[in-house]
Amino acid sequence: MSWLEELAADAAALKSAGRLRVLREIAPEPHGRAVYHGRRYCNFSGNDYMGISGDAELRRKFYEQYAADLSTPELAQSSASSRLLTGNTPAYNRLERTLSELYNGRSALVFNSGYHTNIGVLPALARSGDLILSDKLNHASIIDGLKLADAEFRRYPHLDLEQLEKQLAAKRAAYRQVFIVTESVFSMDGDLADLRKLVELKEKYDAVLVVDEAHSVGVRGPRGTGLAAELGVAGKVDVLIGTFGKAFGSTGAYAIMEPEVREYLVNHMRSLIFTTGLPPVVLNWSDFVLRHAAEMDAERAKLKRMSDRLRAIFTAAGVKKDGDSQIVPFMVGEDRDAELMAEKFQDNGFLVFPIRPPTVPAHTSRLRFSLTAALDESDIEAVGKLL
Ligand code: PMP
Repeated sequence: MSWLEELAADAAALKSAGRLRVLREIAPEPHGRAVYHGRRYCNFSGNDYMGISGDAELRRKFYEQYAADLSTPELAQSSASSRLLTGNTPAYNRLERTLSELYNGRSALVFNSGYHTNIGVLPALARSGDLILSDKLNHASIIDGLKLADAEFRRYPHLDLEQLEKQLAAKRAAYRQVFIVTESVFSMDGDLADLRKLVELKEKYDAVLVVDEAHSVGVRGPRGTGLAAELGVAGKVDVLIGTFGKAFGSTGAYAIMEPEVREYLVNHMRSLIFTTGLPPVVLNWSDFVLRHAAEMDAERAKLKRMSDRLRAIFTAAGVKKDGDSQIVPFMVGEDRDAELMAEKFQDNGFLVFPIRPPTVPAHTSRLRFSLTAALDESDIEAVGKLL
C-alpha cells in the first residue's frame, strides 16, 4: 500500500465505524441560530454561552471606538513577533491589568489559546521528580500537557476525590512537588469538580492546584470570574485558567496566579515563548468583552434557568446525566444510536451532533447540548416537545 492509500484506508475504517470527523461549514447568525447546508437551525453545539460572539451590536460598538482612525495600531491584525521579542504590544498589558483587577489583584498572563495554555503550563512547572494527578475526564489539551511534561502522571477516577486523597497519601512523600489538575465544569459531561474539597486536599498535602475554567468563566461567579470565584476559593487555586474562545466570544486564554509563577512561566513556558503573540485587535476585543461580560448577570441567570429546565426535560425522558451547568448531555450509549438521534434533532431544526469515542469513553456516546443565553426559553420547550 502506498502512503496515501494507507491514509485513505484509515479514513474508510473511521467512516465505516461511524467515527469519521469532518469540517462542516456553519455560518453563525444572531439569537443562537446558525446556517448549515442552507438551512437555519437553533444552534445547540457552540460554546458562545453568553451570546457575545453572535452579538452584532456589540461588535459594532467595539469598532465604533476606533471610528476616528481605522488605521490605528490598536486594530492591527498581527503582533508580528513573539511576546518575548517585540510582540508584547500595549494591548497585552491593558488586558492583563483588567484580568488582574477582576481577580483581586493576582497576576495574570495571556496566552494564544486554551490549547497553548494546557500544553505549556504543566510542562513548564512540573519537573522530573514531580507527580501530576489528573482527573480521568480532563480535556485532551491537558492530557497532551501531561505527556509533554518530564514529571510522572497518574489519573484518578472522574471526580473521585477519595481516590485522589488515597493517591496523595500514598505518594506525596516520594515526590518533590505534586500537582493536581482538573477542569471546573467538564466539557463533555457538564458536571462540576468539588473545588472547595480540592483546595482542602491541596492544602493538606502541600500540593499545587491547577484548574481549567474554560467552560465556567463568563458563565459563573461574580462578574463572570468562574466557578472557583463563585465558591469563594479562586484565591487559593494556584493556577486558574480561563479561555476567551467560549463565553467571552473572542480567542486566547489566560492564567491567574502569584507573580512568582507568572515570572517562571514567562521564562520557561515553551508555548508562550516560541509562538507569535496575539494581534492587538483580538486583545482589545478580549478586554472589551471581559468588561462587558462582567455586567451580564441577567444573561447568567437566564442561562441557568434554561439549563435547569433542559436538564429537567432530559431527566423526565430518562436520558440525563448528573451535572449543573449550561452543558447538558443527552446520553444515548452506542455510536450509531447517537447518530440517529442527532439526525432526528437536526431534521427538526436543532443543531446537535453526536459525541462519540475517542472524545468520550466507549458506550457513552451522547448528544452534547450546550446552551447560550442568546437562545429563547421557548427553544428549550421546543426540544422537550420532540421527546
Ligand atoms: N480546556 C478545555 C476544558 C476545553 O474544553 C478547551 C476547548 N474545547 C480548551 C481547553 C482549549 O481551549 P482553546 O479552544 O482556547 O484552545
